[in-house]
Amino acid sequence: MNKNSNNADKNVKYCTSCKKCWEITLIDNFRKKQRKIFYYEDFPAYGKERETCDKCKRRDKMGQMGWIAHLCATQDRKELEEFLGEKGFKDPKFAANEFLRAERELRKEKTKKNDKIKSSGIKNE
Ligand SMILES: [Zn+2]
Repeated sequence: MNKNSNNADKNVKYCTSCKKCWEITLIDNFRKKQRKIFYYEDFPAYGKERETCDKCKRRDKMGQMGWIAHLCATQDRKELEEFLGEKGFKDPKFAANEFLRAERELRKEKTKKNDKIKSSGIKNE
């Protein structure tokens, strides 16, 4: 039997939520190990352990709006487009753009406010 190929993808699991095979890889990122999730498109799901991937687990926990907010906060355009497409947006690219722009505007406003607080703090000292 082909033991090697079996070993190579024994960590690969199949997510029934996004219907993709995935694998967690630990990456040495200087001081800390980082969990990175890899997705395999067109990977045979046959015989793979069924487990919801980190992304879908998180998404289920956050709920729809929470997930959109999270993708906006991380400016994850690709994921956002994909998600909005799944949700039936006619033009997910445009919608994602709008969401991301709104998030950036919001952030700018926040920074402005923080600057104001900071500068008013200095004045009071
Ligand atoms: Zn998934």
